[in-house]
Amino acid sequence: MNMDTDLCIIGAGLSGLALAAKLQAEGRDVIVLEARDRSGGRVLSPGGYDLGPSWIWPHNHRMLALIESLGLTTFAQYASGRLVFEDAVGRVRRDLDFATMGGALRVEGGLARVTDALAAGLGDRLRLACRVHLVLEEAEGVSVLMEERRIRARRVILALPPRLVASLGVAVPDAPTWMAGHAKLVATYPTAFWRENGLNGDAISHRGPLAEIHDASPVGAKVGALFGFAQVGAARQPEFRDAAIAQLVRLFGQDAATPDDLLIKDWSNDPATATKADLTPPSDHPTYNALPPTRRLIFAGTETSYDNGGFLEGALASAEAAHAALGFVTD
Ligand SMILES: Cc1cc2nc3c(=O)[nH]c(=O)nc-3n(C[C@H](O)[C@H](O)[C@H](O)COP(=O)(O)OP(=O)(O)OC[C@H]3O[C@@H](n4cnc5c(N)ncnc54)[C@H](O)[C@@H]3O)c2cc1C
Repeated sequence: MNMDTDLCIIGAGLSGLALAAKLQAEGRDVIVLEARDRSGGRVLSPGGYDLGPSWIWPHNHRMLALIESLGLTTFAQYASGRLVFEDAVGRVRRDLDFATMGGALRVEGGLARVTDALAAGLGDRLRLACRVHLVLEEAEGVSVLMEERRIRARRVILALPPRLVASLGVAVPDAPTWMAGHAKLVATYPTAFWRENGLNGDAISHRGPLAEIHDASPVGAKVGALFGFAQVGAARQPEFRDAAIAQLVRLFGQDAATPDDLLIKDWSNDPATATKADLTPPSDHPTYNALPPTRRLIFAGTETSYDNGGFLEGALASAEAAHAALGFVTD
């Protein structure tokens, strides 16, 4: 069988990119196929505002080491002041001296600076807008089928959620894709006015449409930003945008009425992340487990990591595990 490449990674999210960077540094013959016309997967930070993940935590040693190695900087999630609580009938209290994400860290300029830097290092080894439809494991190699072409590789690393792996014709146990059923909204303002009012930007709401809100201002807060996770399914409603602004006004006051910009990302209707099964997110954080490699297929992606599975740290842990698995095979 003629091979186009020794190793083919499917998926240029954090796990696929981190693995590809390591293999490339070792001089291995690797290409990365990515369905979207951008890299990063669930990491997405237009204008520096994180519409996917925002936080890493001090115990995420792989993420912290990667960020440092790329010359990027973290800063603390804003946590000074009080939280706003809204009950199901809209009663609001602002006397709770509590920050739900105290201790969490953000990346200056947004988390996509991490994935962008990894992607840039791959050069033409990274192929965007290459959606894989089918993966066929054969005796001598693997055929990877896209719309108009096929690539043959000696081994394939599937660096994408198991539910998407299953859609490529590779049988794997079901595992929910973490956060895939969720939507995020970012509202930007000329200033972080809530801070001046003694609020930390955190809100918990049982009324909605945003269930949970946090400060998303850039480091130094030269401008202000709030982000909210929508209640499940709420972002698919036509009135979502207006209802979310009305809620921000209820919680943070009239200054919230006219954001400079409003960014919305509904991950649940993005087929490069979510499947129908993800429309009902798990109520608790699932326990994820490694998927044992076959002769020619190796599984990565955060949902294959027992260690911090679901999180960015888990994506890096899965890349490490896939790298180790490659070390054990010889032909
Ligand atoms: C709203 C939201 C908030 C989150 N918040 C946090 C947080 O604060 N902290 C944290 O640690 N984690 C958070 N997460 C989880 C975090 O984003 C993930 O753990 C991490 O990004 C997963 O990386 P991955 O590489 O495993 O998967 P992905 O990023 O999903 O990468 C998979 C890649 O495969 C590609 N792909 C899919 N189908 C195909 C195909 N057929 N052919 C080719 N390519 C394909 C996709 O486009 C994607 O690029 C959040 C996620 C979301 C959505």
